[in-house]
Order: sequence, then structure tokens, then C-alpha cells
Amino acid sequence: MDRYLVFGHPVRHSKSPFIHTLFARQTQQELEYGLAEPAVDEFAQALRTFFDQGGKGCNVTVPFKEQAFTLVDRLSPRAKRAGAVNTIKLTDDGVLLGDNTDGAGLVADLKSHGVTLADSRILLLGAGGAARGALAPLLAELPSELVIANRTHTKAQQLAAEFHDLGPVTAQIYEQLAGPFDLVINSTSASLQGELPPLAPALIHTDIAIYDMMYGASDTAFICWAKQHGARQTMDGLGMLVEQAAEAFTVWRGIRPGTKQVLRELKRNLGVI
Ligand code: NDP
Repeated sequence: MDRYLVFGHPVRHSKSPFIHTLFARQTQQELEYGLAEPAVDEFAQALRTFFDQGGKGCNVTVPFKEQAFTLVDRLSPRAKRAGAVNTIKLTDDGVLLGDNTDGAGLVADLKSHGVTLADSRILLLGAGGAARGALAPLLAELPSELVIANRTHTKAQQLAAEFHDLGPVTAQIYEQLAGPFDLVINSTSASLQGELPPLAPALIHTDIAIYDMMYGASDTAFICWAKQHGARQTMDGLGMLVEQAAEAFTVWRGIRPGTKQVLRELKRNLGVI
């Protein structure tokens, strides 16, 4: 049977095996999907061993995405732009192809929630790996402006300069942000510690859409905060997780699974519904 897995550290909490098993069942693909948690300095060897032993493809998550970028034979254009790889496929001619499906997953999830990206003013919080992966797919949707704000401002400036050729992207420090924005995407890891990015409450209004890439069984700190200040449309990153997985599955198997039912199952599994 064709073998796939996700590499990460820690990875025991990963929902990827659950999601891909449902995708495989739905599309009647014969495959198995597992977990691998190599020591941080043993990822390269573990990856080689997996493919030497017949593995067909894998996902890569924290903290290995940047390292995976350096280990594959070929990069997709979107992985090259993202500077990180979250999906690897062994092609029929024996080449390890590195791809990045995170940004496509984010955009697909935003669209599935009915969020309009074209001509909208987007605020992206954070300038880490997730922000980098999101920039090209977001700019491809032709927003009127995309502003990046990050705790370490120089990183936001670097990203804005790097992606400037793809659209109207600028960097701004938190204290100087001027609204109104149509959409705020939180790609910081602040919610992981129950913290908030230093965003002025005045930027939140009833018609704004709020997206936190983090997810959990209950609202993230950022979503709670945004609701308290009047935001009516709030979304967490669970849909992005399922959509980026669907994109990876499509890269591997050449068949696109449906995501709605799988997202429902995942929510049930997490106790969200
Ligand atoms: P990184 O570590 O690469 O970047 C973290 C970013 O968060 C940096 O910009 C950092 O700022 C900022 N940050 C951290 N703490 C705070 C704080 N207290 N206040 C303000 N800013 C802060 O992480 P990733 O980009 O890889 O991941 C970010 C988030 O996105 C995580 O929560 C991750 O779980 C989520 N994610 C979700 C996915 C999904 O499918 N739903 C996929 C990928 C990521 P600074 O530069 O100043 O350190």
C-alpha cells in the first residue's frame, strides 16, 4: 500500500492522519498515512530513509519546513516563494518535489467563508513562516492593499520588499496602522501562549472579517478579543488546515477530495461541535 506521513516535532497532536485517512476513504484511494517525530537534528536522515523504503510522499510541519526546503531535488514556484516546504512528493521519475500548500489552503478557506479578497484592504499580522507562505496566494487575489505588521518591524519590511513585485504590499508598525481594513489575518503565534498581538481595538468594526491561523476546541485569544470589540465574522485556522491538506492530497494523488464533510468530522473529533 502507498505510504505517506507527516514529519514534525512534536507531532503526536497532528490531525493530518485523521484528515488524510478520510480523504483516502472518500476518494477510494489505497494508502496509509502515519506520523514521524525524528529528533530535530535527525530529520534529514529520517526523510531519506522514508523515501528509500518506498514512501510516496509526506507532509512537513514545525520545525522542519525550512530544512525540507533545502533537502528536496526540485521546488514548485510557490514553495520557492514561501522559502519553506510542507509537502513532498516522490515523482514517477524518482525526483523529490517540494511544494507549499499552506497559502493556497488559507485562500481556499477564506473563499469558502465567502470572504472577498479582490479590491479589499488586508492586514496581515506576523512575518514568520506562515505569513511568508500566505503572501503570494493572497496577492494573487488582487487586494487593493496588503499591510504587514509585525512585532519585529524589520522582518515585516523585509517581507514587503521581497513580495513587492507581486502586488501592493507595505509594512507598517502596529501603533501607526490606519484603518479601515476589510480583513485581518493573524499569522502570529501569539495565540499559542494565549497572548494578543498589540493591535488597537479601534481597528475592529462590525463589517471586518477576522481570521486567526491558529485553532483549537474553543475560540483563540485573538478571536475572543475581536468579538469583544464588535467583529461579527471570525474564523480560525481549522479550515486552512483541511484545505492545505486537500491541496497536498491533490499533489500526491491527482484527485481533489471534498473538504466540507471532513472539516465537519474534524470539528466533531475536536469537540467543537
Ligand atoms: P513563526 O514562529 O515563524 O512566526 C511567529 C510570528 O508571530 C512572528 O512574526 C512573531 O513576531 C509573531 N509573534 C509571536 N508571539 C507574538 C506576540 N506575543 N505578539 C506579537 N507577535 C508575536 O510561526 P509560523 O509563522 O510558522 O506560525 C504562526 C502561526 O500560524 C502559528 O500559530 C501556527 O500554528 C499557525 N499556522 C497554522 C496553519 C494552519 O493550517 N491553520 C499552518 C501554518 C501555521 P517576531 O518576528 O517579532 O518574533
